Amino acid sequence: MPYRRKRSSDTWHWCRNCSNWPTSDFVEQSSKPTTGELDNECQAKVAAGSCSR
Ligand SMILES: [Zn+2]
Repeated sequence: MPYRRKRSSDTWHWCRNCSNWPTSDFVEQSSKPTTGELDNECQAKVAAGSCSR
């Protein structure tokens, strides 16, 4: 499950259906990020069971 963030942001996303899922100019890594922020919307999707990975 990849994590992505915009190059200009330190907020990580991991749900492809997040409205802020980066599609260009992003950094991607496969392990859980140890720096930066985890996106609130992605976390809400996980809690609601609607996170598409
Ligand atoms: Zn997100």
